[in-house]
Amino acid sequence: EIVDITEMLDHVLNRFEMLIHSAEYEGKNYQIKKVLENESIFVEVDPDRIIQVLDNIMNNAIKYSPDGGTITGRMVKREQTVIISITDEGMGIPKADLGKIFSRFYRVDRARSRAMGGSGLGLAISKEVVEQHGGNIWAESTEGKGTTFYLSLPYVPYEEEEWE
Ligand code: ATP
Ligand code: MG
Repeated sequence: EIVDITEMLDHVLNRFEMLIHSAEYEGKNYQIKKVLENESIFVEVDPDRIIQVLDNIMNNAIKYSPDGGTITGRMVKREQTVIISITDEGMGIPKADLGKIFSRFYRVDRARSRAMGGSGLGLAISKEVVEQHGGNIWAESTEGKGTTFYLSLPYVPYEEEEWE
């Protein structure tokens, strides 16, 4: 299916914007910031699967930012790929663990993670999905400062007009 990834990311971020303002997050100071391209970018994807990936990264951003903070969703259009990034101001990931978080069941600091719930499968599944779409997923992080997850996807280089 061919979908507008700008619109998809916008929708996902809007949904999380509503979530952080719901009763469940009352008293937590999360903020969502959007830095999107102001044009449609068409990608050929299974939309449900890509939404699942974005949801997992957003859920992680919230879950691993126990003190709140700004979560920024960005996108940048490159020559053949679009790069989406989600930046949080949470606990960060130690350098030694960065290469392992995409492995099945791997969780940083098991005791702390167990208290937060989850299975350690989210990123492994996300990596599988993104690679099935010809893209990549990676992370940069500073412990105690925050984390950015990047997600690249090849896009269809058509102008919007050609679809009319
Ligand atoms: P689930 O299967 O419910 O997603 P999970 O969140 O523990 O469980 P992953 O999403 O695969 O599993 O993440 C793996 C581990 O990577 C997490 O347990 C956590 O230690 C670390 N991690 C992931 N995202 C972040 C983040 N934004 N900030 C800090 N640590 C993170
Ligand atoms: Mg997760």
